[in-house]
Amino acid sequence: MASRIIPVDPFDLVIFGGTGDLARRKILPGLYRRFLDEQITEDSRIIGAARSTMDDAAYREVVRASIRDHIPAAKQAADAVDRFVNIVGYVALDARGTDGWDALAKLMRKSVVRAFYLSVAPTLFAEIATRLHRHRITDKHSRIVIEKPFGRDRASARKLNAEMATHFKEDQIYRIDHYLGKETVQNLMAVRFANILFEPLWNAQYVDHVQITVAETVGVEGRGSYYDTSGAMRDMVQNHLMQLLCLIAMEPPYKFDPDAVRDEKLKVIRALDPVAPDDIVRGQYLGTGQADSYLDHTGRTESLTESFVALKASLSSWRWKGTPFYLRTGKRLRARASEIAVTFKEPPHSIFEQEEGWRANVLVIRLQPDEGINLKVMIKEPGPGGMRLTEVPLDMSFAEALGEEGTDIPDAYERLIMDVIRGNQTLFMRGDEVEAAWAWTDPIIGEWEARGESPKPYDAGSSGPEDALMLMHRDGRRWREIR
Ligand code: NAD
Repeated sequence: MASRIIPVDPFDLVIFGGTGDLARRKILPGLYRRFLDEQITEDSRIIGAARSTMDDAAYREVVRASIRDHIPAAKQAADAVDRFVNIVGYVALDARGTDGWDALAKLMRKSVVRAFYLSVAPTLFAEIATRLHRHRITDKHSRIVIEKPFGRDRASARKLNAEMATHFKEDQIYRIDHYLGKETVQNLMAVRFANILFEPLWNAQYVDHVQITVAETVGVEGRGSYYDTSGAMRDMVQNHLMQLLCLIAMEPPYKFDPDAVRDEKLKVIRALDPVAPDDIVRGQYLGTGQADSYLDHTGRTESLTESFVALKASLSSWRWKGTPFYLRTGKRLRARASEIAVTFKEPPHSIFEQEEGWRANVLVIRLQPDEGINLKVMIKEPGPGGMRLTEVPLDMSFAEALGEEGTDIPDAYERLIMDVIRGNQTLFMRGDEVEAAWAWTDPIIGEWEARGESPKPYDAGSSGPEDALMLMHRDGRRWREIR
């Protein structure tokens, strides 16, 4: 079942920060893969823009190296790489100065889609937007892509939204959250809204609770000083986990249209109750053996910033009143695993005598590793041993469903960049969503800052602090294992 690839219209894509980590690791390799699949044609152009002085030839070497480092060798045919770097160029410019902007303006073609990917620090977003406008590089069809963080609280998010709105309309602004570009996340919407099966059960009457886990094995090494000003709540919960929660909890939009979907997500954020201090656990990882601690990674002797957070959220809505949503994310945990698990209630009455080993149905949406959806159901244990029940997973692993080609599921970034070129904002956050998410997280963070409490220590390689386990134990539930 190979997926059909429709080429996008020709475009000029300018990557500000084209020499940076994100560009080299994700954006350029992603564009190459789309080129290999002929979704990007040779009449498109990719222009790197950054401070370093170099010419097109030197930047093409940067692009070649990024392909070499991040694309499997089997997909690096010399001819394909040559053809790809031929559509790549470079402009040296300073986001804060005047150099390079006229040269960029001259490069832009009139008749094609223009997109500007701001893969730079957020402090440069407004400066770049202003200069794009001043040098008449944008037109009313141009698109601008920005990377998180979208502010560090509601006030700064508002300011950023206002700055972007000075030069771009909301339908030109693409706020990337790469979690939304994952195959599984989109499939979650397909499972919910293209099947009759789940939707009647998708409410507090039938869903016992939802768990959303985003666990990482890496620590904050390399970006410790930045991370220490942010923390897990700002870095992960306010955006990625919140977006996943929205997709689980939202009402069916009237159609799969950017604003219809985002209107429904916004309603979910607005329906979130404030979180009681007892319903949140913050943690910070310790060093073990050779592994450094959070403080080692940030070079500090003391820090109140959390590298782990677990919390119990609830929604004041007809559909979800009474169903808790447990969210958990952290660094230096046991495994790299992201999943959403929807645990249904047990049947009201068991006609089978077996009490032990009875399991509620669980729908698990796995984001990484091994993207896929899995439904745990009870069946009769095969064989003549009488009517004994056992649990089996109905596996909807995409790699299998898509056959050979499915083993190479497009990366979230490449899918989202193609959406930018197509002008489809469905999987991008709208400004009011971002502000509403901060409006929910600001009081939580404010309370922590007022209390000045230290996060609970947890061992690197564990599942987080003990208190996080208690958060669910006291409700008679338990976290799923991180693996
Ligand atoms: P980076 O520091 O590796 O690269 C920054 C780029 O910006 C470089 O190309 C640099 O030359 C350019 N630059 C800096 N100052 C400039 C100026 N005054 N004028 C023109 N160019 C200038 O950063 P990164 O890791 O690639 O991250 C880029 C953005 O993406 C940041 O906003 C970051 O928060 C966000 N982000 C990065 C990742 C990631 O995995 N790296 C993930 C999520 C979000």
